[in-house]
Amino acid sequence: MKLQPPFVEDRGASWILAEAMPDELSAAHLGRFGGLNQLPPTRVRAALRAALQAAGHDVDALSVMDGLALSSGMSTITYAQANSMMPVLRVSTPSAYARPFGHSEDTHLNRRVGIKVPKEGGFVCLKCIEEDLKRSDLSWFHRVHHLVGVDWCVHHGDPLWEVTDAKPFYSLPHIWMKNGQLRKLDVCSPTLDAAPAFIQRYVEISVAFLGLLKPLFALDVSQAIRNRVSEFFLGRSRRGMQPYLSDHIYDLAPKSWLHAHVPALAQKRKHEYINYIDDQVCSCEPATADAYAMAMAALYPSVDQAFEEVVNQSELGTNSIPPDFSSSRVEFWQGEVWPYYLMHKGDHRAVAKALLLPFSQVTSRLLNAGLPDLTKLQMSSLGATLSTFASGESIDQSCAAHGADEQAFHALLRVACAPLVKAMEHLAKRHEYSGST
Ligand SMILES: [Zn+2]
Repeated sequence: MKLQPPFVEDRGASWILAEAMPDELSAAHLGRFGGLNQLPPTRVRAALRAALQAAGHDVDALSVMDGLALSSGMSTITYAQANSMMPVLRVSTPSAYARPFGHSEDTHLNRRVGIKVPKEGGFVCLKCIEEDLKRSDLSWFHRVHHLVGVDWCVHHGDPLWEVTDAKPFYSLPHIWMKNGQLRKLDVCSPTLDAAPAFIQRYVEISVAFLGLLKPLFALDVSQAIRNRVSEFFLGRSRRGMQPYLSDHIYDLAPKSWLHAHVPALAQKRKHEYINYIDDQVCSCEPATADAYAMAMAALYPSVDQAFEEVVNQSELGTNSIPPDFSSSRVEFWQGEVWPYYLMHKGDHRAVAKALLLPFSQVTSRLLNAGLPDLTKLQMSSLGATLSTFASGESIDQSCAAHGADEQAFHALLRVACAPLVKAMEHLAKRHEYSGST
């Protein structure tokens, strides 16, 4: 059948919009919308616009990411932080003031990077497919499986599989699996747990970058890396005789991993300057997520320390959110604050610190939005009950497990709203992950 432009516009109202699944890769979300409506790849974007227009949205000047966010009932900022790869595609910026990923004033970036993927191909974990199917009767491509150099599922520790088809996102992982169109990756370790410590730190840092809410200030990151390089007696300029940061990484990283992910480094000679890596020390320009992750994994004994010194330094430094961004807009407190709440594990004080706002103002706004201080909740039996409930137990079983009063728990659920339960699930997953590495 030959498809002409009117085909898409005329049928706008009949296209089915697809809501984003948790951690679903934006490019694959778009592909799933296309697959759901049996659209050829060249027609998917136009159909999305037509469907949104038919649903009453003003689609002028919308980026594809804006459209995907609208399809999911999310703000573009929330979507960018939850479903796009922007946080790893733009870890740092030369500007001292950075807006959150997905901000409406960064339309050009939302267009350019919103549905970009850092590495080619579609990657899946067989156990994640199984779990997704069990929970949702559907499988999808996860962002966390599309990080450069991360060859294992960070939840299960198993090697990832790559879709052998050239257009992986126009079908779903379980269908590729059923059709035998998956190829297991060649990996340097059979499981993530058995991988060298450098690789484990690299993976954890890469995943943590994905949780960034806005870019770091490149100058701050370079400064932290330069300080650390000095402690290792590595060279801080191109002309010195000391080994470079790239020499240090070359010694730590498995050669097969380097060959697969950083060929320039795998073939390097001793004391050869590798721009991709060593510019982080000798210049203050932004580097890629994998270059930062390699540097931090090589220079710090633990991920916590690396983040303490590199990321937190930048977040607390000049790269702060301009105060008028967060405090004055109703929409911010009705949804956009959510990633901050999640990142800081429901700790009101930490959220206030990140937003550079008074604690009293933040805590009252969060309570109004139904988001209690989880540092207090977790110490109570209600907090523990909520956590058990979020993991799938019934209300009475959850209450019985922690000796909580059912009436009080019902009252908490009424206030706490659905996002909180999702937050607890998210935190529980994070806890499992950090506990397993
Ligand atoms: Zn998995």
